[in-house]
Amino acid sequence: MWLVLAVPVKAAAIEDLTRPWPGAVVPYKLDPVILKRAGAKGTDCRNWRDWSAATQGHKVCRAMSEWQAETGVRFVPYTKGAKWLDIRTSDNRTNATLGYSVVNWVNVEPRASYGAVLHEFGHVLGLTHEHMRPDRDDYIVLAPFIGDSLKGCNPVEAMCRDILLNFPRHGRLQMKTDYDPCSLMHYLSHQGPRYPDDPRWRQAFTLTRAGAARMDVCSGQFQAREARCRKVGQKCAITEDDAALVRRFHGG
Ligand SMILES: [Zn+2]
Repeated sequence: MWLVLAVPVKAAAIEDLTRPWPGAVVPYKLDPVILKRAGAKGTDCRNWRDWSAATQGHKVCRAMSEWQAETGVRFVPYTKGAKWLDIRTSDNRTNATLGYSVVNWVNVEPRASYGAVLHEFGHVLGLTHEHMRPDRDDYIVLAPFIGDSLKGCNPVEAMCRDILLNFPRHGRLQMKTDYDPCSLMHYLSHQGPRYPDDPRWRQAFTLTRAGAARMDVCSGQFQAREARCRKVGQKCAITEDDAALVRRFHGG
């Protein structure tokens, strides 16, 4: 779920240096390894619904299909042009570049959940982490150890680098909606799986009163879903605000 920055970043929601995909079209190339694991015959997402839901190929193609349906931004197999999105796999990372950039890729580890893959495609379409917005302190209170690390930690240590990359406040925005604790681009409070031996990560932040009020509003859209989809930082679905912002960013 790490956000990898291909361009310098100053802001959140959609940052001032992030660019949209020209013509609201994302040409993609699928790693042959991903296709092979899915048992695909072709070189693109054709017939992805027939592939096992456990495969990376199914998750990737389903995520593109869902973002396309929600936003109108189209994912098409690459044919020609200088830039495209590389969809590839490595053993231990699920991450992505941000918006349309010089190089563009999504990396999907074999065991990545569908929600994690859907989140990474949010980055591809220009969204940054909701909990890194400049106004986030009105809505969440970071755990003291994270706040302390942001004030000063040793970047040689992996946890410090993680915090410095994924928890600072950004500077300037070019677009935003109201703060959305339901956003697919918000982290979960419980980050335990990242640091199973460190109990502090079981609660990386709490909501302020204003954050809880926003949560009451946004969680209504997931009322029919299971409990894990009705909490801050859910990884079940694209929210209405996530989709609206991507649409607006791409001229829709
Ligand atoms: Zn992310």
